[in-house]
Amino acid sequence: MFDLIVKGGTLPDGRVADIGITSGKITAIEKLDAEAGQVIDATGDLVSPPFVDPHFHMDATLSYGTPRINASGTLLEGIGLWGELKQVMTPDEVRDRALAYCDWAASMGLLAIRSHVDTCDDRLMGVEALLEVKKQVAGYIDLQLVAFPQDGLYRDPTALQNTIRALDMGVDVVGGIPHFERTMADGAASVTQLCEMAAERGLMVDMHCDETDDPMSRHIETLIYETQRLGLQGRVAGSHLTSMHSMDNYYVSKLLPLMAEAEVAAIPNPLINIVLQGRHDTYPKRRGLTRVKEMLAMGITVGWGQDCVMDPWYSLGTADMLDVAFMGLHVAQMTSPDEMRQCFEMVTNTNASIMGLTDYGLRVGAKASLVVLDAGNPIEALRLRPDRLCVIAAGRVISGKTRNDARLTLPGRPESVRRRHPAHSGEFN
Ligand SMILES: [Zn+2]
Repeated sequence: MFDLIVKGGTLPDGRVADIGITSGKITAIEKLDAEAGQVIDATGDLVSPPFVDPHFHMDATLSYGTPRINASGTLLEGIGLWGELKQVMTPDEVRDRALAYCDWAASMGLLAIRSHVDTCDDRLMGVEALLEVKKQVAGYIDLQLVAFPQDGLYRDPTALQNTIRALDMGVDVVGGIPHFERTMADGAASVTQLCEMAAERGLMVDMHCDETDDPMSRHIETLIYETQRLGLQGRVAGSHLTSMHSMDNYYVSKLLPLMAEAEVAAIPNPLINIVLQGRHDTYPKRRGLTRVKEMLAMGITVGWGQDCVMDPWYSLGTADMLDVAFMGLHVAQMTSPDEMRQCFEMVTNTNASIMGLTDYGLRVGAKASLVVLDAGNPIEALRLRPDRLCVIAAGRVISGKTRNDARLTLPGRPESVRRRHPAHSGEFN
């Protein structure tokens, strides 16, 4: 007797199986004839582990237009605008925006999020609000927080002490922004000090690193070096790494093997990188996405992050990690079937591994968090970015949606359209 059985779905690896759930855990993945308290029919639909976002800013989300919009569309105006927003926001308002976003995420099957939280505000309002939100959503979203000195660990007079306070309050991961410090030397020193802090506390590191079009921004080199020196292999991620797009090829040929050796992961954020980078260019205009395919070929762990939804840096976004992967596969030109399947893997299992989630996955013994999608396989899911028909968190159905077929009224044509392709749906291709 199971609490819940998800019946007949197609798993991302192409197997068709029933999934039995007991006490919030997956207890069987096979053909089941057993009884269950609840049965969900997923015949012909894709059943995936939940989506995971390894890079987000939940203290800024859904604030678009407050107090004004970003007129230039640049990263630097966004940072200035965020400074203005910090002056007018309140703890309740931050919490309410974050909780509203978590509702969106839950409905999209996005059940694990790593969010940076600004630690430059002396009141640490965002930190307090998001620590409370983390507790509130714990039953359905794994929310991991990164102490992020947005205005620069040294550039801002109180950022260092506030970042230490935030970590003392229970923030999980050490962040940084070396390319925003006053000098290259300060940037490198900030990487060293933050990595030492993480090593002392036994924490992971995730830095905004080289989010610039300046090919000389090479803080990733220091991040790799400190990871190796301090024995932090497998616990460090560099977010964005956009300068690598513009770096000298010979230098990159030295850099990537070092990155692979130190097991430093990369988190590009394609929706944001394609919008913010290259703004100072005429033509040719750089894409501002890091070297994703080249890193994957070197065996480096690369996940796709979302970064922003309706905030000072980005006016769009829907909490759909398939949108993120869709943009990523276009900009990185990852269009072969294997590459597209890898993009789906990146927004699920790979992102979970970057976050260090140990109870995640579609396997017996893992937490029973699952998404049923109106698609036949991962590639079709990327193409359609379809409805999440059912979202299950720790064995509990938390969101559902009726299948949303269009009704046609054309003589001689079918009455409804789902946009699935008969030759590429249902079966693994
Ligand atoms: Zn970010």
